Amino acid sequence: MAAGIIRRLDEAVVNRIAAGEVIQRPANAIKEMIENCLDAKCTSIQVVVKEGGLKLIQVQDNGCGIRKEDLNIVCERFTTSKLQKFEDLASISTYGFRGEALASISHVAHVTVTTKTADAKCAYRATYSDGKIKAPPKPCAGNQGTQITVEDLFYNVITRRKALKNPNEEYAKILEVCGRYAIHNSGISFSVKKQGETVSDVRTLSNASTVDNIRSIFGNAVSRELIEVDCEDASLAFKMKGYITNANYSVKKCIFLLFINHRLVESAALRKAIETVYAAYLPKGTHPFLYLSLEIVPQNVDVNVHPTKHEVHFLHEDSILERVQQHIESKLLGSNSSRMYFTQTLLPGADCSSSEVVKPAANSSAAAKGASDKVYAHQMVRTDSREQKLDAFLQPANNPLSTAPGEAPAQGSARPRDGAAGPQDVEMADVGAPVEATPRAQEDTAVSAALGDSGHLSPEAALPRKRPREDADTEMEEDDSRKDMTAACTPRRRIINLTSVLTLQEEISSQAHASLQEMLRDHSFVGCVSPQWALAQYQTKLYLLNTTKLSQELFYQILIYDFANFGVLRLSEPAPVYELSMLALEDPESGWTEEDGPKEGLAEYIVEFLKKKTEMLKDYFSLEIDEEGNLVGLPLLIDNYVPPLEGLPMFVLRLATEVNWDEEKPCFESLSKELALFYSIRKQYVIDEANPTNSQTEDSDSGSTKWKWTVEHVLYKAFRTHLLPPKHFAEDGNILQLANLPDLYKVFERC
Ligand code: ADP
Ligand code: MG
Repeated sequence: MAAGIIRRLDEAVVNRIAAGEVIQRPANAIKEMIENCLDAKCTSIQVVVKEGGLKLIQVQDNGCGIRKEDLNIVCERFTTSKLQKFEDLASISTYGFRGEALASISHVAHVTVTTKTADAKCAYRATYSDGKIKAPPKPCAGNQGTQITVEDLFYNVITRRKALKNPNEEYAKILEVCGRYAIHNSGISFSVKKQGETVSDVRTLSNASTVDNIRSIFGNAVSRELIEVDCEDASLAFKMKGYITNANYSVKKCIFLLFINHRLVESAALRKAIETVYAAYLPKGTHPFLYLSLEIVPQNVDVNVHPTKHEVHFLHEDSILERVQQHIESKLLGSNSSRMYFTQTLLPGADCSSSEVVKPAANSSAAAKGASDKVYAHQMVRTDSREQKLDAFLQPANNPLSTAPGEAPAQGSARPRDGAAGPQDVEMADVGAPVEATPRAQEDTAVSAALGDSGHLSPEAALPRKRPREDADTEMEEDDSRKDMTAACTPRRRIINLTSVLTLQEEISSQAHASLQEMLRDHSFVGCVSPQWALAQYQTKLYLLNTTKLSQELFYQILIYDFANFGVLRLSEPAPVYELSMLALEDPESGWTEEDGPKEGLAEYIVEFLKKKTEMLKDYFSLEIDEEGNLVGLPLLIDNYVPPLEGLPMFVLRLATEVNWDEEKPCFESLSKELALFYSIRKQYVIDEANPTNSQTEDSDSGSTKWKWTVEHVLYKAFRTHLLPPKHFAEDGNILQLANLPDLYKVFERC
């Protein structure tokens, strides 16, 4: 056999082989290009690819641009604007420093650079091949920054091209790299999409936080279980920051985003060290999500293990690993001890800031996505929020609106009234008449009557009052209470065009929390803890809700949304505002002192003051005060609900003292707030209605049945459709997640 002849390789071939070492697939090229954009101090990076980057990669930034005179040599090997002397290597803080990336790419693809610096009058464009510029740069139009287009990658490396025959796989890899850089670079907006598509597959906003970005790329399931990590060790000259998932979260395959000195790298040693810590916390065979950013003095890092600069080693590796392990362990322990109870007061999706979130990255988040979309056996619960419980039809016998006055409240559990098993709002219509027809005699004063027994209230609007927001079609019902103001047979709903009211409505809707709303809409009611607190289930989660606060918000929203469209709850005996005011002033809660002057004088003043407002109060709020200064009607906000009347004196006092009567919008707002406060369900409500003489028997059957029924079938029913929960409910503890079924499983697993 003849000896092979040793020949010097053609320089172009050498370069091509070298290029293949640096750029092994489209994602490597994109990573290098993104790093260049970041080095150029941009705030936005847009990537467009075609056929997984094999046909086209286009990376556009708004950074500093490349000067025209440098365009001639940018694609030559070892040209870089980032390093001049050998010593600089030790303290390099930019990504690129070898001037190799663009050169390599230009040896295996057609490269076009369009760029404009801040002081150039126009942009310039140049194309490159094998590291050389093909023609002098041409002036053209363009924004500040750089756009680099790479076409037909590996057109001249057949073997590589063959190895990369699956564009989808390449695209997934691109999304993975870009998504990770996007998370690491909050403050810079990223978008990645296929050419011709309008929707980005990775998209982050420049004002989004790191957690926002993790959410938009890996989904809610990950982002809501994150723990922040942050540690530093001067003796080892390293710092670590990042986010890791707590023990509530696990996936089949570990997701590990590791940046060392802001470069996406891999470290098998570090991954293994961290997984060892998690093994004690996660179910067998499952893994965490980790995003860690390490900063290690550059002289201690050896990035040149491989030309792709992926796998990294560093000095004091073992000591640093140990330190990282300790820190992660302490964080997991911290989150673990509290997990049984209040895993999170922040609710899923509490943050609504990144609303522009798009399709999650196809591949990189597949594991995470799977975890949230797929329902495993341990996540299955049987609930149907639409199903009605039978007792919804059975109003407790001592309901003030269905009890004939004078009749002793029925003892024992709720029982159906004869034949009255229809929907509750129809029943309302039935009972209006008997209440009015049978006047009570035994009370001495109208005040005590109104306060002590809500049996004196009867809904004036005998027709079932459907919520206008529910039925958008105009109802042509005739409404007695409005006859005096509007011609008979006009549509029942008055159209309100007051800017003040419309603005208040907008304020409510702009504050609405979408996922809380979804939870309220589809919840299954579990039970009342107290008049103030109730439990509800949604999907696999159990929530504790502050009924008082939620009902207060509900009534406020009804007052604003149905402004000037209320029915009337008529007091069958007028309640003198004077006596109500006196009662309130006697209550220490009113804060009355001698300096305020005699109570009688104040009470008289309140009567006179409110008398001047009667027109408006009646017209807009169905709050009726007659000529003698008696309160005779209250707004009917939801069917089957009577406000806790012991709050009436304080309400009247606050009406005169707390409401801003000078300007329209603040007036409607504060008045509605006061009404809402008065209507909200409170502890006393129960006591008074159950048994005025024995306030300790909150749980006695007759008492508890009534309020519990009201909470479940009136209030929580209304929360489903009529409440736009404001965002702060997710944070202030008024809605609290207590338990999550999968977590409970985990607890049992360990027993
Ligand atoms: P390195 O990044 O190692 O310096 P590259 O081959 O990646 O080498 O880039 C060569 C040079 O081209 C950079 O030093 C920089 O001056 C210039 N350059 C490349 N991309 C950009 C960009 N997006 N914005 C501004 N300058 C760029
Ligand atoms: Mg570079």
